[in-house]
Amino acid sequence: MFRSCSLLLLLAFRLPAEPVDWIWSARYVITMDPQRRVIENGAVAVKQDRIAAVGPRAGIDRRFESRKRLDRPDALILPGLVNTHTHAAMSLFRGIADDLRLQDWLEKYIFPAEAKNVSPEFVRWGTKLACLEMLLSGTTTFTDMYYFEDVVAEAAKEAGMRGVLGETIIGFPVADAKTPADALKLAERMLARFRGDPLIVAAVAPHALYTNSDATLGAARALANRYHAPLITHLSETKRENEESMAKRKMTPTAALDALGLFKGRTLVAHAVWTDDADLRILKSRGVGVAHCPSSNMKLSSGAAPVVKMLALNLAVGLGTDGPAGSNNDFDLCEEMDLAAKLQKLITGDPQALPARTALEMATIGGARALGLEKEIGSLEAGKRADFITVRLDRPHAVPLYDVYSQMVYALKGSDVRDVMVNGREVVQDGQCLTLNSGAVMAKAREFGHKVKASLQAR
Ligand SMILES: [Zn+2]
Repeated sequence: MFRSCSLLLLLAFRLPAEPVDWIWSARYVITMDPQRRVIENGAVAVKQDRIAAVGPRAGIDRRFESRKRLDRPDALILPGLVNTHTHAAMSLFRGIADDLRLQDWLEKYIFPAEAKNVSPEFVRWGTKLACLEMLLSGTTTFTDMYYFEDVVAEAAKEAGMRGVLGETIIGFPVADAKTPADALKLAERMLARFRGDPLIVAAVAPHALYTNSDATLGAARALANRYHAPLITHLSETKRENEESMAKRKMTPTAALDALGLFKGRTLVAHAVWTDDADLRILKSRGVGVAHCPSSNMKLSSGAAPVVKMLALNLAVGLGTDGPAGSNNDFDLCEEMDLAAKLQKLITGDPQALPARTALEMATIGGARALGLEKEIGSLEAGKRADFITVRLDRPHAVPLYDVYSQMVYALKGSDVRDVMVNGREVVQDGQCLTLNSGAVMAKAREFGHKVKASLQAR
């Protein structure tokens, strides 16, 4: 008996280790899995584009033989951050005009600047600049709506970044479409082109209720549903938007969109600042995801979204930077986590509102849920896509360490991100982007900056 047992043990130890492509290890692995496991001295094994296993480093090293490895004994590993609302190419308008009323900012600066500058090349370089900034600060998935969105997708793929990307549909002539019907055609072309892409989810993005006709909104929903694609829109960002909807339709924008059938299919709404209890019940019953953008809402004095109520209803709420022109001047999701937590504490008068772990959930698995991608990304679990980051713990603001969630949300910065993997591919190594040439992208951005400035002076 003893002899056969030991023979079995011997055989077990002799089993060849399973080959994988990567093992990354760190002092703590924050999984954001359903049990919210935090593994001390943990590791993640990756095979091709997926996570093979997550666990204590010793166990992972016994089970797997890796071709490549990255050991960061003084860092965290966590899921890549998910930005649920951006207009990436607007990075080239960063800081063009700040501290203005939304209407002045739009009419005196952004609309003229866009009319004179937005082209496929502008969008390509603006998106590359945005992807560079996002990757270096730990974002692995971004959600975008702008013009020439197919070019946004090409730039995101070049950066090796995951994107949920929607062609903007709006009721006036814009850079890439004279009419909403033209924009719908572009959206359909994009849905067909990127179907089944490992990194890109093409979406349909009617700008908002107040900038589109009811017929266009209906056509956008029908198009999204034909391709099983998500629909992205802005909702109840400002008080004025609600007042106009009440005057025109005797309904809140949420009730109006629901009455139009816009939520009959996968939907993500940005902002939802001026939503009441009835609106939130509608969003919940339709399974609508919300992109909460605290920097943008604060900077434009839009208001504070009722995020605590949304979370109490178990709505899927993610974080977005919006911007980065006017509404926010960067893509740092670490800042959004910090601000999301503090803004809810401020408006509720309750310091226990929106604790650190919840803020990190919103930036990872919550954002994935809001996008309908929670089976693929948002947490570190075997079988999910290999999207994760390391964050350094060897800086003054990172020590001592009592609670990894509070450290991540209230102390660490996007600039503490050291390495990034997206879809099993290492895209940032030791703070250097491997997919995009940082120097060339920044030089081109400065060049575009001079052109934009000259175009405004030429008015
Ligand atoms: Zn927006």
